[in-house]
Amino acid sequence: MSGKMDRQSVTATPKAAGKPRLSAGGGGGAYRRTSSGLLPAASGGRASSDSGAVSSRVRVAVRLRPRNADELAVDADFGDCVELQPELKRLKLRKNNWESETYEFDEVLTEFASQKRVYEVVAKPVVESVLEGYNGTVMAYGQTGTGKTFTLGKLGEEDTAARGIMVRAMEDILADITPETDTVSVSYLQLYMEMIQDLLDPVNDNIAIVEDPRTGDVSLPGATVVEVRDQKSFVDLLRVGEAHRVAANTKLNTESSRSHALLMVNVRRADKGRHEMDVSISGENGHSSSTVGSLRPPIVRKSKLVVVDLAGSERIDKSGSEGHTLEEAKSINLSLSALGKCINALAENSPHVPVRDSKLTRLLKDSFGGTARTSLVVTIGPSPRHRGETTSTIMFGQRAMKVENMVKLKEEFDYKSLCRRLDIELDKLIAENERQRKYFDDEVERITAEAQCRVLEAEGECKTALENEKAKYHQEYLDSIKILEEKWKLHQQSPRKQIKETEPTSNEVGEVQNLLQNEKMLRQSAEDEANDLKNQVSHWKKMEAAATAEVVKLRKMLDTEASQKEKFEEEIAVLKRQLLQLSLDADETRRSLDRDGSGKIFPGFDSLMSHSRNSQPREQSNGPKTPIAKLFEQVGLQKILSLLESEEPDVRVHAVKVVANLAAEEANQEKIVEAGGLTSLLMLLRSSEDETIRRVAAGAIANLAMNETNQDLIMAQGGVTLLSMTASDAEDPQTLRMVAGAIANLCGNDKLQTRLRGEGGIKALLGMVRCGHPDVLAQVARGIANFAKCESRAATHGNRVGKSLLIDDGALPWIVKNANNEAALIRRHIELALCHLAQHEVNSKDIICEGALWELVRISRDCSREDIRMLAYRTLTSSPTLQSEMRRLRIEC
Ligand code: ADP
Ligand code: MG
Repeated sequence: MSGKMDRQSVTATPKAAGKPRLSAGGGGGAYRRTSSGLLPAASGGRASSDSGAVSSRVRVAVRLRPRNADELAVDADFGDCVELQPELKRLKLRKNNWESETYEFDEVLTEFASQKRVYEVVAKPVVESVLEGYNGTVMAYGQTGTGKTFTLGKLGEEDTAARGIMVRAMEDILADITPETDTVSVSYLQLYMEMIQDLLDPVNDNIAIVEDPRTGDVSLPGATVVEVRDQKSFVDLLRVGEAHRVAANTKLNTESSRSHALLMVNVRRADKGRHEMDVSISGENGHSSSTVGSLRPPIVRKSKLVVVDLAGSERIDKSGSEGHTLEEAKSINLSLSALGKCINALAENSPHVPVRDSKLTRLLKDSFGGTARTSLVVTIGPSPRHRGETTSTIMFGQRAMKVENMVKLKEEFDYKSLCRRLDIELDKLIAENERQRKYFDDEVERITAEAQCRVLEAEGECKTALENEKAKYHQEYLDSIKILEEKWKLHQQSPRKQIKETEPTSNEVGEVQNLLQNEKMLRQSAEDEANDLKNQVSHWKKMEAAATAEVVKLRKMLDTEASQKEKFEEEIAVLKRQLLQLSLDADETRRSLDRDGSGKIFPGFDSLMSHSRNSQPREQSNGPKTPIAKLFEQVGLQKILSLLESEEPDVRVHAVKVVANLAAEEANQEKIVEAGGLTSLLMLLRSSEDETIRRVAAGAIANLAMNETNQDLIMAQGGVTLLSMTASDAEDPQTLRMVAGAIANLCGNDKLQTRLRGEGGIKALLGMVRCGHPDVLAQVARGIANFAKCESRAATHGNRVGKSLLIDDGALPWIVKNANNEAALIRRHIELALCHLAQHEVNSKDIICEGALWELVRISRDCSREDIRMLAYRTLTSSPTLQSEMRRLRIEC
């Protein structure tokens, strides 16, 4: 996958005055309109973690200082050395009375430009971008006394209209953030003679730059960081920093013009709407269970705004620094000249950028050729006495305009806050468990007491009943004894009568028998009563045993509860370990994406259209495996592919993302296709209702479409029709970008040309330009260039006759309209496409009719790439039809 670098500038060539200029073409639509600033718009309001890096050129404005009192007096008889044409964004530099040179800038600010306007065009777009999560740099370059500090650092306490960029930027930042969730903190530093001094704590005067060996990010851990909550405290900090700067410079016996001042503003924002965490832990019927949905931690965006007031750019000998030794003089200028060298190297596409040569260039690594949005204001004075310095300042600005950065979002997962939430959840559960335990203990106590009470009651009742009964029978017994004694006495008193009566009468016998009978019955009923009471006692004993059993049962339940609590705590510990692993994995992914230099889900695909400026070596084979690769090994491709057909929409989205990630690695592509992954992805394009799924599937197909065998398979399975359908339904520019990328890859296959066109591939490509997004346009242009190249090759080998299919399908008007597109990448593809089309006489008539001849002439004259310029020239001079038309119109090549 060779993403070739392309760093052509948009409008940086100095033009001799009076030379006619061909029209600049459209394509301005992609630029931010809200704040009429210098920067292209970010790729979307809420970029997700799969949004890619966007190419963005360093934007440069020039600002002219009004004449000062000295110049008004001394230069009164001379005109200014520059003339500004702000409406044309041009600056004319007078060489002498007869000659001048014209330069174009992104913005030309006259001596009347207000501080507010300067802020709005130079810094506001960068500040807005920082608030969206991108890094940003605003920098002033120019000779001492031309207004760098005036532009950046003016506090404007007496006159609010005079407030400079630092103060206005903080006002905008504080107005936009949410104090409850977001934080803003600043450091303020000075760089002098390769030493970094903390302007908020000047004793700290040799702060080290620390570079993360894996990501390459630089930081200054030794610098004071102050959290800013309101504008007043920020202005106070700036005032303190400025006072320290003056004091330090007096001590070092220098002027502030020799040192660089850097204000670093760190913004940390919670990404609202993307921080839901689904952790539900429920307890039912005393049985607790835990269900952990997805552990999705909240996302935070961390961005940094760096405002740099550079040292005066004049040569040291000119501004009278006799006090310095040669060594000091070298050191003073080292950082600034290293910055110049880096910008030259970047502007010229040189493979080596000497970033490590100075501290300034190490600190600004991200601002030039890095991932930040960068705006530079070059300040100049009007005096012809400083023409030399002014010229070199302008040339610096012109070179900086050629530098392109790849801006990208800096967002990460907020594991700390997820951990906090889990802790709170755990505490809630512990409290709930404690409450339940207490409830059970109370219940057991209550039931035990009740049972004891009942047993006591029953025992008491039995005892009284027994005693009553006993007393009753005792009394009856005593009574009957008494009766018998009396009778006995009666016998003794009358012996005769008794003798007479020794033979008892039948009456007396009957009486005794009755008494005995009575006695028997009484004993029987006493026995019954006693049995009854015995039964009652055994019944109460049984009741007591049941109550004891219930107590045992409750104790058991309590034990189960306790062991479940233990299990639950273990589960939470596992969760925490998983969370830690997740965080390590996420860090790893982030690092590997950072190493990759593009920070996106489909690095393979994106590298077709973007390029890593840092050219850091990718650790692939030897480095640690990415979590996705681990997943691939652990879960197995078949399983992952089967998830593409899952019932759960969420699972489908995740599965297609995983497959897309795998498809981005060339090594996996064959396995994916063999396992039927390509067919499944095409199925998703056909059947999925969800645009995210279709977007990610199209991205994966685009990656697979980079190899010829897969291109044949995609065609054979009706891929072009499916991609065309997806294109016509899609609304998201990123979906269109993926689809256009896939078709563009197919366009580069010589054998598939006719079929691709027959199935509507070219029409689909041209249809996608409706969205106007530069990334989509770049893919469309690449596709057209690929197609034109294949056609041209076929015609040269005699395998093709007749007019270009591109022309037949109506591509020419769009090609002509965008041939001078502002975006270098789009322009380059279209220029190549035009050259290929014009190489064949059959196309000449259409080329003339549609006005493409003019664009070819322009390319042959102005194109900054020599090979394309020569190709256009050769094409024009070798076509008889184009030659005769040029003669007719009196155009010269
Ligand atoms: P530098 O930081 O480039 O050395 P200064 O910002 O200190 O330059 O400006 C030098 C002087 O010129 C200061 O007195 C400043 O107030 C004045 N000055 C600079 N730019 C302007 C401007 N655009 N309008 C009015 N005065 C200016
Ligand atoms: Mg200054």
